[in-house]
Parts: sequence; structure tokens; C-alpha cells
Amino acid sequence: MSVVASVYLDHNATSPLRPAAFDAMVEALRASGNPSSVHRVGRAARGLIDTARRQVAALVGALPAEIVFTSGGTEANNLALSGAGRRRVLASAVEHDSVLNAARNLELVAVDGNGVVDLAALQRLLATSREPALVSVMFANNETGVIQPIAEIVRIARAAGALIHCDAVQGAGKVPVDMHGMGVDYLSLSAHKFGGPTGVGALVVRDGAPFHTDRRGGGQESNRRAGTENVAGIAGFGIAAAEAKSGLATQALRDHLEASLRAIAPAARVFGAGALRLPNTVCISMPGVRAETQVMALDLAGVAVSAGAACSSGKVSRSAVLAAMGVEVAESETALRISFGWSTVSQDIERLIAAWRDLYIRVTHSDIAQARAA
Ligand code: PLP
Repeated sequence: MSVVASVYLDHNATSPLRPAAFDAMVEALRASGNPSSVHRVGRAARGLIDTARRQVAALVGALPAEIVFTSGGTEANNLALSGAGRRRVLASAVEHDSVLNAARNLELVAVDGNGVVDLAALQRLLATSREPALVSVMFANNETGVIQPIAEIVRIARAAGALIHCDAVQGAGKVPVDMHGMGVDYLSLSAHKFGGPTGVGALVVRDGAPFHTDRRGGGQESNRRAGTENVAGIAGFGIAAAEAKSGLATQALRDHLEASLRAIAPAARVFGAGALRLPNTVCISMPGVRAETQVMALDLAGVAVSAGAACSSGKVSRSAVLAAMGVEVAESETALRISFGWSTVSQDIERLIAAWRDLYIRVTHSDIAQARAA
């Protein structure tokens, strides 16, 4: 029986677990023990967390003491928005739902046609009130890979007395991220976006930044996040961070992929193409073919990709990100997200290109046949 090897190109949803992270987790599970216990077993568990804290801090240029381990990017974003203690919160229109749904009366900052924050709009919005705000802008978008001009956003926000949160869930582990270099106060991370396990992440709280926790319980994470730590998950997170730091993505595969798909369908559009983007993400339309059709056809060909933000819904609805970029509904419904990572090899990209070509030819030929029959 022949088995079609599957090609996994949906790393922005979840990147496969790195073998070293898997091994570290199994070892941590075997050791068990509560990291708050003072005996030897507890101290061993604490040691695993301390090591991971240093590894995660090193990935984003932070101090180990600034890391607050959480259950993932969603919790980190929620903690940042509540923990900053600012009633007024501004966020870009292309943020992940875990930001958009985390604050009441959120004020949205518009983006341009490439999905880049409109800096003048941010400045205008900040000037409408003297109340000090929290500005939340993501490092890179999960659907398009578009990278935001964080340094300029920080400059504008600081001038207005605002605190700054950056959701770096999709940037960290893919491109260099330097928390202090960017000058942000809070930074969100998630392990499963670069080869760590699901269900673990971190909020990095800059030393000296205000932070009011709403978690009630024990004094874990220096009183910032109560609850016994997910030791195995954190150990896997640490190893994945260390590996990701030494093997960041390059742009060559992405450029080759985009050029190949556009050669097949010259009308295909790469969303956010005019902006700086992550080297692992391509959001592209296949003219006239709905994204669900593409995802299913590619899946049958053994290639896993996604339509829109798979991690937030599971069902395909209109992309709010593309809508904010001014993309028409009909075109946004044909947008496919291809994202690769640490386990991707060039043959995977060739398999995708071949499957995409087959589908496109099938669809356009059946259109021509239908037109002839009509
Ligand atoms: N922020 C961004 C930009 C994301 O892409 C995601 C998940 O896709 C999250 C936050 C949520 O992270 P988690 O799945 O760890 O809760």
C-alpha cells in the first residue's frame, strides 16, 4: 500500500513539536514534582522552569525575571490588556481576537492596504483624549505575515504617555525579536508557533512596567500569575526557544513559492506584498477559487494549509484582517494562507506548487468547458 507523505504548511496555526522539545517534556513528566516544594524533587522541577525562563528570555532579549509563564498567547494578551491597568486601550484593526476581545470599548487604529498601521491615524486617535492609554500592536500578522513598524509606534505612543503591548506570537522564533530594543512594555509569546507545545506561552513584563494581576491564588511567577506551573510544557517551550533562536527562517523559500504561484496564475495576488513580511508566510488568492475548495483539494493531495485564521475559528468565515486592508469580499474568500517553519524542506514547497497548479488547471479548464457548453 502506498502512503502519500503529507506536507505540513500550516505553521502559523501550530508548528510541529520539535523532537528536542518532545524529549524534554517526557523527561519533565517523568520527574514530576511541584516547583514550589522545597525538597529535592520540587527543586528539580524549579530548575527546569528556571532554565526555560532563561531560554525564553534570551529569544526576545529580555531578562529572565521579566518572563511570566502563561497557558499560551491568548492568556498573555488578556493579561497584558488587563494588567497594564489602563482603561483606555487602542489596538490595530488587524490584531488577533485574543486582543480584540480582551478589552471593553477598545479603540481601533486603521491599517493601510498592506495591513500596516496608519501612524497618522494612531497619532490622531491618541490626541483625542488626555487619558493615558495602552497601545496594543502585533509584531507580525498571523494571516499575512505583515510586520508592523513597532519602533515608530513606540515613539508616537510614548510621546502621548501611553504604555505599549506587542503581541509577538507570530514573530518570535521566526525573525529576531528584541523586546528592549523595540522599547515595548509588554510582549506576548506562544510556544506552539515555533515548535514548542500547545497550551504554554509567556507574557514578558518589562522591569518597572506597571502590572496588576487579576489571578488569585498562590504566589507563583513572582505573584504575577497564580497557579502551579505547567512544568513539562514550560520545559518544552524553553528548548524550542533555544533551537528557534539558532535557526531563524530565511526568505528564499517564500520568494520562490510566490514567484512560482504567480507564474501559474498571473492574476493571483499576494496580500501585504508591499510591506515588510515574515519570511515564512504567504497569503495569496487563487482567482475565482474559494479558499475552502483549495484547502480541501490540497488536503486530498496530502498538503495541509489553511484559509484565514484557522486558530481562531475552525470554520471559514470572512477574514477581518483582509477586510481591514480593504480587500473585496469575493477576493478575500479566495485567500489561502501558506506558512512554513523549522521542519519544512524545499520538496514540501514543490509539492504544494504542483498541487496548486493541478487544482488551478482543473478549475480553469472546467470553466472553459462550461463556457463552451453554454
Ligand atoms: N496572537 C496571535 C497573533 C496568534 O496568531 C495567536 C494564535 O494563532 C494567538 C495570539 C493566540 O495564541 P495561543 O494559541 O497560544 O493562545
